[in-house]
Amino acid sequence: MRTLAKTKAEKGIWMDEQEIPTPGHNDVLIKIHKTAICGTDIHIYNWDEWSQKTIPLGMTVGHEFAGEIVALGQEVQGLKIGDRVSGEGHVVCGHCRNCRAGRRHLCRNTLGVGVNRPGCFAEYLCIPAANVFPLPHDISDDMAAIFDPYGNAVHTALQWDMVGEDVLVTGAGPIGIMAAAVARHAGARHVVITDVNEYRLDLARQMGVTRAVNVTEQKLEDVMAELGMTEGFDVGLEMSGNGMAFSQMLKLMNHGGKVSILGIPSADTTIDWNQVIFKMLTLKGIYGREMFETWYKMGSMLQSGLNLEPIITHRFPVDQFEEAFEIMASGRSGKIVLDWTV
Ligand code: NAD
Ligand code: ZN
Repeated sequence: MRTLAKTKAEKGIWMDEQEIPTPGHNDVLIKIHKTAICGTDIHIYNWDEWSQKTIPLGMTVGHEFAGEIVALGQEVQGLKIGDRVSGEGHVVCGHCRNCRAGRRHLCRNTLGVGVNRPGCFAEYLCIPAANVFPLPHDISDDMAAIFDPYGNAVHTALQWDMVGEDVLVTGAGPIGIMAAAVARHAGARHVVITDVNEYRLDLARQMGVTRAVNVTEQKLEDVMAELGMTEGFDVGLEMSGNGMAFSQMLKLMNHGGKVSILGIPSADTTIDWNQVIFKMLTLKGIYGREMFETWYKMGSMLQSGLNLEPIITHRFPVDQFEEAFEIMASGRSGKIVLDWTV
């Protein structure tokens, strides 16, 4: 089968040929229809310091997918050949304390699809049946292909009560924009999103945020004054990984504010702890998605009218993968979907 793999220790990704995997007793074999490119895939594409330490050469990359089950291990129950599925890219151990308590997103032995084990940029993907999410019929393959990052957005946003709250999202990457849309759908009053990239701020504007603010051009304090916000943000969603954005968020939170942090800082970040202590802020780190509570919320929010269509800005047949990766790396895109059926 064709795969996109990291076959050389340099910038790039290459089309490779590999054997179709045989599912073990508890696995499913999925024929891939659509995949999407994640920021992690761009780190691997660029062969940055993290990927040089983490990715074994030859690794098939990718973890955002939609497809259909074509083979099942003999122990698998509740799924059948022909089921349309997406799935969790975090493969958990099943025997640590958190796994045994049903808190699989907190497994300390998590392995990443397309990072530590073969990924979904391939004609076929083999994963444990427990990682599969069967798709409601009214959710398209394109939308299902971005369920993994949409899940990060939902997991981060739905940590807190949103109804009537004023929400600050720092970072209008694909996940930040989706989190802003989720906050709005869940009943927030004002949703303000920031970035330094005009292309992405424009994309956020199309998705119904209250304000999309370029922090190199406009002061957030001025935007808050325009909106009649006299106290501060109630909820903060950190989606940039940028230390300055995070510090500014802490400064603009109201007393008792809640902040969930998904963005991964590239370097040590210093914050003003006085903001946290004297305002009694709650800070929570977010990793992955809850299996599978987040996934159920994702499906039902789309079915109850959340429209994420504009976040998919580009679609390519898989043989145009080089162009797709270059556009994703440029920052002038939302999500990019690759079609493996052509
Ligand atoms: P992304 O890199 O596409 O988006 C980050 C955005 O932040 C970019 O648009 C960038 O221009 C913007 N930004 C940079 N400086 C800024 C500033 N000073 N103020 C406001 N915005 C600024 O990333 P993404 O794919 O949308 O993911 C969001 C973040 O979440 C990334 O840091 C990513 O590494 C992280 N992530 C974490 C998890 C997890 O499980 N914790 C999973 C997926 C992604
Ligand atoms: Zn575990």
